[in-house]
Amino acid sequence: MSGMNRQGRSSGPGDAGPSVHATFTGNKALAQEEALIFERDSGACGVDLEEPQAFEDRLGGNRRKGSIGLPGLAEPDVVRHYVRLSQKNYAIDAGLYPLGSCTMKHNPRLNEKMARLPGFADVHPLQPQKTVQGAMALIELVADWLKELTGMPAVAMSPKAGAHGELCGMMAIQAALEARGEGETRTRVLVPESAHGTNPATAALLGYKVDAIPATEDGRVDVAAFKAKLGPDVAAIMLTNPNTCGLFERDIREIADALHAVGGYFYCDGANFNAIVGRVRPGDLGVDAMHINLHKTFSTPHGGGGPGAGPVVLSDALAPFAPLPWITTRDDGRLKFAETEEQVAALGGTSFGRMTAFHGQMGMFVRAAAYMLSHGADGLKQAAEDAVLSANYVLASLKDVMSAPFEGPCMHEALFDDRFLKDTGVETLDFAKAMIDEGYHPMTMYFPLVVHGAMLIEPTESESKASVDLFIATLADLAASAKKGETERFKGAPFLAPRRRLDETLAARNPILTWSAPLPAEAAE
Ligand SMILES: *Cc1c(COP(=O)(O)O)cnc(C)c1O
Repeated sequence: MSGMNRQGRSSGPGDAGPSVHATFTGNKALAQEEALIFERDSGACGVDLEEPQAFEDRLGGNRRKGSIGLPGLAEPDVVRHYVRLSQKNYAIDAGLYPLGSCTMKHNPRLNEKMARLPGFADVHPLQPQKTVQGAMALIELVADWLKELTGMPAVAMSPKAGAHGELCGMMAIQAALEARGEGETRTRVLVPESAHGTNPATAALLGYKVDAIPATEDGRVDVAAFKAKLGPDVAAIMLTNPNTCGLFERDIREIADALHAVGGYFYCDGANFNAIVGRVRPGDLGVDAMHINLHKTFSTPHGGGGPGAGPVVLSDALAPFAPLPWITTRDDGRLKFAETEEQVAALGGTSFGRMTAFHGQMGMFVRAAAYMLSHGADGLKQAAEDAVLSANYVLASLKDVMSAPFEGPCMHEALFDDRFLKDTGVETLDFAKAMIDEGYHPMTMYFPLVVHGAMLIEPTESESKASVDLFIATLADLAASAKKGETERFKGAPFLAPRRRLDETLAARNPILTWSAPLPAEAAE
């Protein structure tokens, strides 16, 4: 592979030179420079409006005196501006997206089409319930699938993201503990070291003390250390399975039983549910509450910029505390929302209250329903199996070229560390930046924290073998190049992107989000 690309032309760092020469326009062929729209302001107007005749001013003297400063451009210039910006985006529709801890990426177009049907897209949450029976039935349909797939008796549909679902599940746990009279005494939540940052944040937000459980050599929860931490003050464990190292927690039943024996609840972070759908039911593992990121497992890819949805499945012990609203069936068979504590009390519940103003993310529910129905139970299982197969293919192909911290197969994502870069002068960050020159979005870097220089790769179920093969070959070429000491290919990367290496820390610490007109030359002096 080294030195030759697929077309047989020579490739490699030496070729970077001519492609990066300065052009008069700053454009690089199809990669066109684009100024901010404010900088492109020509004062033009895309439409030709007539001065209103016989206009009566009803603003009582409050009429605007100057312009509001919006840029003026002709229509073709506006179109070009946004098309050029869109071409700067790397997207799943443009290429493989290896980010780990993200689960599904490709979003079947069918789901988008269904979500745009006016009967779903245009419903209003305050419409009379008898006019939205179909939408309510769809929420129920998704709820039934989630309960079936997880083996759990209840689900709260309203949380709007994974982290929001965590908060919902933990509030149900807190309410259950309060109902048992143990709200004051159970103050500690156990969280494995490798947890997603939202887990300890959720526990802390609810006032719990976060107690970290160390990991074993093989990247899993240290069961002995976990057991040593159990006691009458433990409210819950928050455990991700498959975990953030991409590994299945083999001792999960033992963990659940030991926790239940001391009266704690088992919160499972189910963001990675797509790795196990159709294969394992969390309800069978002793889970009491688990959020499901619909935007990671049931369409609408994570990072797609759209809304999320984080329904939470609940065990029998927690179901009575589920947030409002609940959906029930009236005597005449119509669906209705139980929206007050009294209405829920009549159903035997003691809801902890509301998570959101209304009923959840309708558009996401439609996408999830379309995804579930078009895949079927067998298709969902196959998507899980293919996602795991792809990740293991990456791991098996690269573990001797790069370095893998843990022995054995992985689940939905392949984790590498930076030992293979030792003494090369190249670091994880440089390696990731060189991937940009090769036309790939980098993988998740430096997460999970338990692994040094982590690189977490999640190809998912939707990449073809050819696509994964090219990705593997590219990473193998980069790894070989780093080991050969071709440091310049990495240290200055990316060479071919519209912008070179950015100061991401400065951008995060000092984001400049508004445009201000440049000062006149004399004032600037
Ligand atoms: C993505 C993710 C979350 C958070 O989900 P959001 O929808 O981004 O709030 C929590 N835990 C894990 C393991 C995740 O991968």
